[in-house]
Amino acid sequence: MSVAQDTHLIAPHGGKLVDRTGARPEGVEKLEQLELTSRELSDLDMLASGALSPLEGFMAQHDYERVVDDLRLANGLPWALPVCLAVDREPDGDQVALTDASGTPLAVLEVEGAYEYDKEREADRCFRTTDEAHPGVARLYQQKPCYLAGRVTVFERVEPPFPELALDPAQTRATFAERGWRRVVGFQTRNPIHRAHEYLTKGALETVDGLLIHPLVGETKSDDVPAATRVECYRVLVDNYFPHDRVLVAAFPAAMRYAGPREAIWHAICRKNYGCSHFIVGRDHAGVGDYYGTYDAQLIFDEFEPHELDIEPMFFEHAFFCRVCGQMATPKTCPHGGDDHVFLSGTKVRELLSEGQLPPAEFSRPEVAEVLIQAYRG
Ligand SMILES: [Zn+2]
Repeated sequence: MSVAQDTHLIAPHGGKLVDRTGARPEGVEKLEQLELTSRELSDLDMLASGALSPLEGFMAQHDYERVVDDLRLANGLPWALPVCLAVDREPDGDQVALTDASGTPLAVLEVEGAYEYDKEREADRCFRTTDEAHPGVARLYQQKPCYLAGRVTVFERVEPPFPELALDPAQTRATFAERGWRRVVGFQTRNPIHRAHEYLTKGALETVDGLLIHPLVGETKSDDVPAATRVECYRVLVDNYFPHDRVLVAAFPAAMRYAGPREAIWHAICRKNYGCSHFIVGRDHAGVGDYYGTYDAQLIFDEFEPHELDIEPMFFEHAFFCRVCGQMATPKTCPHGGDDHVFLSGTKVRELLSEGQLPPAEFSRPEVAEVLIQAYRG
């Protein structure tokens, strides 16, 4: 892996951690104001912090086209998903102010130009479907018709939903360096962590120095478990079952796109910017419904030479408790049949929790289940 000179951590994507924060310029209120969607606000915040390094703003057409066509920026660097700002038309001035839904200006964008884009083509290439029932495709189809390109300077950061977990890439990197970690595995999640994922994260941690549990806290589908409940689940899990000097929990401010394989690559690149040298990719990473094959999000990594991404994916199959083995296992490590495995469907788990019953301890830690039971009651 290529290494940042000062800390022995993996170098950011493209070599340098971008910082697009800056002072509020004079006369912002006189500029044309553009209100961002919640996904665009998440992207803006990640541009500010360098989580999307080497991007310094919303994508220009040459980058957008090449990303959609062959998973690379115009300069050849791997990149998996558009990071674009949808507008009705090109603004008149050379600068516009970007605002949140309340109209508060957060950033200035230096207008590089606007371009039309083909929504069906973007859907087909990036989401592998043009079906409007797919939540990412549905959102794409609702977008305004042009993309506005330009570098951003963010002078007011979005209020983080969990201030105690709000760590920018520079801060996670500083924490890793302080703790003497060099090899760090990142774990993306938008679900409560039950025994299966605890097993994967601990299996990965056995081979590296530290673990970053990095729950996504940006916008998700309305039927996903709310971030506040999940964050409480991570807290009780880590408090009770992880060594504190080997784990860091921080929030990943991205919005879910549900782009499956491409999002797995994108998630990995972002975590590299946070200082992770390794990244866990499980079954159906960032998937939704049955749009993607179970292992598509692992197979897509083969489209790159390992040195190109630099961050190393760690692939896992689904885990379960096996009564014969007497421990957590996966189909890779357990020869026994399904009857010997503790398996509960998502529907069954929700049913138990909403009735106030604990799932088996082989499935879920009781402390985690209690948090979910309280959330169902609330
Ligand atoms: Zn077994």
